[in-house]
Amino acid sequence: MIHTRLFSRCFLPQSFKLGGGCHGDAFRAISSMPEPCQSSPISDGDSCDFDWDSLGFGLMPTDYMYIMKCAIDENFERGQISRYGNIELSPSAGVLNYGQGLFEGLKAYRKDDGGLLLFRPHENALRMRTGADRMCMPSPTVEQFVDAVKQTTIANRRWVPPPGKGSLYLRPLLIGTGPILGLAPSPEYTFLVFASPVRNYFREGSAPLNLYVENEFDRASRGGTGGVKSISNYAPVLKAITRAKSRGFSDVLYLDSVNKRDVEEVSSCNIFIVKGNVISTPATHGTILPGVTRKSIIEIARDRGYEVEERAINVEEVFDAREVFCTGTAVGVAPVGSITCMDRRIEYQTGAETTCQELYSTLVGIQTGTTEDKMGWTVEIC
Ligand SMILES: *Cc1c(COP(=O)(O)O)cnc(C)c1O
Repeated sequence: MIHTRLFSRCFLPQSFKLGGGCHGDAFRAISSMPEPCQSSPISDGDSCDFDWDSLGFGLMPTDYMYIMKCAIDENFERGQISRYGNIELSPSAGVLNYGQGLFEGLKAYRKDDGGLLLFRPHENALRMRTGADRMCMPSPTVEQFVDAVKQTTIANRRWVPPPGKGSLYLRPLLIGTGPILGLAPSPEYTFLVFASPVRNYFREGSAPLNLYVENEFDRASRGGTGGVKSISNYAPVLKAITRAKSRGFSDVLYLDSVNKRDVEEVSSCNIFIVKGNVISTPATHGTILPGVTRKSIIEIARDRGYEVEERAINVEEVFDAREVFCTGTAVGVAPVGSITCMDRRIEYQTGAETTCQELYSTLVGIQTGTTEDKMGWTVEIC
């Protein structure tokens, strides 16, 4: 088992105390670090003695997480890094009973010179603030969010894979942790960031996505929460995803819930279609999650001379596209090989010299620091 090996070989620095006092120790260790780049007791060297080629997508626990709490009518202040581990919750916590929670997802990449880059973390911070407002939660400021993500990355820096092997996926959570019985906002909130190394979604020769158009279940509805990363949006689509996977598809393409006519997005990524020099993606009006990758690909494509349209896209239009691709932090820019709607299956151009490939290489180049970041999107943390 990978995990056993990993824990025994590189889980924690020997000097680190286990048990009750560890949270405070971790916090002191972090806050007393003179410079993030210098080796510190908790970074335990710059990288881990781990077979990075065996990296997958599953959760691989890392050493530390960040935690910050606040009461309903207060502001977040003074979070801290602590050992990664279970958290204690009241059985009546708002998140457990009423699904009051949001998540985010972003990645840290290791550059060729060993430095670490975050990609547009301010965008994730702003999206969490929008979501928190919708879900009646207080939220960290943009600065607090970005600082927490940086601290979590630095504390776990040996888990950031070497260039080309993957990235450190960072998962911020904002959840109602205070006890509540009647339906109302929770009295207390927890902001938490944990991390897990993940491999690149598309390795050389990986298969394109085969999407299944869902006609029965909806992902989001008008006036709902589809436009924010609410945890409550995801369990309801597991049924559709599981069914599509059991039929051999990679994921589900959802339609608008009113007319079941326009394509919206895939379970956790946005969709684009390519015809000639025109790239189109559904406009975000509340039922589609405004992806940071989506926004970035729109800008990259315009910069590279494509015409990009954000508008309603009838499912019929998808059938005569030349290329279709999906965007998201997890997948990057993923080519779609086929879309199946009822008993109709359409195939698309994939592979070398596609628009998808061109945009993906540009994006990855910026994210990993090999292409000049003209847009000022990356944040160097070390
Ligand atoms: C997170 C997510 C995306 C992609 O957003 P990115 O910011 O690009 O990672 C797209 N759709 C859904 C439903 C999501 O949850």
